[in-house]
Amino acid sequence: MSTRPNAPYRDEVLDGGKTLIYEGHDLPNRKDGPDPKSVDQPLKLPSGKLTQNGMFYNAAVDRGSTDDFERVYVYEKIKAGIWVYNGTFALREAWVEHDGTRNICKFQLKLLENQNTHTPDPELDHTRMIPSSVKQEVWKRDGGKCRDCGSDQNLHFDHIIPFSKGGSSLTAENIQLLCAKHNLSKSAKII
Ligand SMILES: [Zn+2]
Repeated sequence: MSTRPNAPYRDEVLDGGKTLIYEGHDLPNRKDGPDPKSVDQPLKLPSGKLTQNGMFYNAAVDRGSTDDFERVYVYEKIKAGIWVYNGTFALREAWVEHDGTRNICKFQLKLLENQNTHTPDPELDHTRMIPSSVKQEVWKRDGGKCRDCGSDQNLHFDHIIPFSKGGSSLTAENIQLLCAKHNLSKSAKII
């Protein structure tokens, strides 16, 4: 997903980060092909094979039991090549809507209250939405590295004072970059 000002898709973040409305993918740009922004977002290829939109759509509407939602790991692009984990979400609904020009696919994702322990991040607090502007400020200040060990792998935005204890998501002073290992050891200490 992408919520940056110049992001190519209009994804929406609602309920303080607990609900995401995610837009489907455009037709790939082809030489001599139509402008992908002028044509419907496809669910199927001409061959009948499902696109990624189609697979998502079917996963949302063809559920067997009502609470057997497809799980989606959500990553947010904060700058070119840098993706940050935002939590595990359930794919709840899919629909096609007309935006005045064409049909686009929309998917509604809801944050899972019980974040599975084998998801990439066991800490719940950080999934409270931190605005992209704050993430970019923290990223710059911490130099894109874990504050504890300097690692640049599997980084997470950590609330210094946990969100659940009143710590703010809105100011860079309360957010730091930690690698998955140090994020985990910190949350273990709080418990
Ligand atoms: Zn670290």
